[in-house]
Amino acid sequence: MDKRAYNFNAGPAALPLAVLERAQQELVEYKGIGMSIMEISHRSKEYEALNTETQELLKELMGIPDGYQILFLQGGASSQFAMIPMNFLKPGRVGSYVHTGAWAEKAYKEAKLLGHEVHIAATSEAHDFMQIPELNEIEIHPDSAYLHITSNETIGGTQFQEYPNTGNVPLIADMSSDILCRPVDVSKFAMIYAGAQKNLGPSGVTIAIIREDLLQDLPKNIPTMLRYEIHSTNNSLYNTPPVYSVYMVNLVLKWIKENGGVEAMEQTNRAKAKLIYDAIDESKGFYIGCAAPASRSLMNLTFRLASEELEKSFIKQAEAAGFVGLKGHRSVGGLRASAYNAVPMEACEALANFMRDFQQKNS
Ligand code: PMP
Repeated sequence: MDKRAYNFNAGPAALPLAVLERAQQELVEYKGIGMSIMEISHRSKEYEALNTETQELLKELMGIPDGYQILFLQGGASSQFAMIPMNFLKPGRVGSYVHTGAWAEKAYKEAKLLGHEVHIAATSEAHDFMQIPELNEIEIHPDSAYLHITSNETIGGTQFQEYPNTGNVPLIADMSSDILCRPVDVSKFAMIYAGAQKNLGPSGVTIAIIREDLLQDLPKNIPTMLRYEIHSTNNSLYNTPPVYSVYMVNLVLKWIKENGGVEAMEQTNRAKAKLIYDAIDESKGFYIGCAAPASRSLMNLTFRLASEELEKSFIKQAEAAGFVGLKGHRSVGGLRASAYNAVPMEACEALANFMRDFQQKNS
């Protein structure tokens, strides 16, 4: 297929072509039922089977140990920013947060908005959020109900390379922009959550992986839909789930499995990111990498040029050459290539070549 763009969108983002084609085949008639998956009850045996299979695939791919619940929620990762403090911050308990950038800030501000006590356990503000704080700088408040981290900052382009050991304090991670990009030891985390629209599928479903002990004794005075325990006891079928989004996540997970699992994703992601970071590092300062090298993200590769004018011209010429989504987030400007799992190696090779070519013509 020659009409597919080189898609570097930050999210919603590229989906594997094989997944889109399979969805296309099954769109009108799903598994011989005479209609699409969108047209049947979520209480049907077909949807229940899909719900269970999707949970199991995620469990297998991420190596999620027993004792965790996998929930399919709505409201985006942004709703988790509020649900986490609502569910876990009982009176007298504090939410500790590592402030790594825009997304971490949105998370802790939501806890504050709800009137909870928030403790900033570490911040990289002094470095303009261009690096992840050293793990030994993280100071967890003794009354913490959890430590919250953003494993990958989608806007700044920084990523935790290692995760903090939090002892008895539950570690909660927003992995919206790097879930399944590399293996993770899930047992270190009490909760992992992610909006689907980067590495998991289309938007519309948010995945939460929660250790069961966290679901005990949750406050009762929160709206039903915002209580984790309701979704857990109802196996994510308390109300109508985002059926089609879950179906697409199912196909993406199968695609990851067929392509060697998360270890293989990591290998390819490292090779893809290296192509672009090399183009930056070998440019003798023509391209300026934004993130500190030790904190660079495998998923969101951020860089700048000497002037905004040159950046505009880069984006314009890149668009003409078939590249999409290279403009940095509106809050920071610059350039950003998001190379999620589904972005093929070939797209990254093409971008690295384009960058070298552009440099030659403009220096
Ligand atoms: N966290 C991170 C790290 C993100 O990148 C995003 C979205 N770009 C969000 C949270 C918010 O996700 P949503 O739009 O699903 O609410």
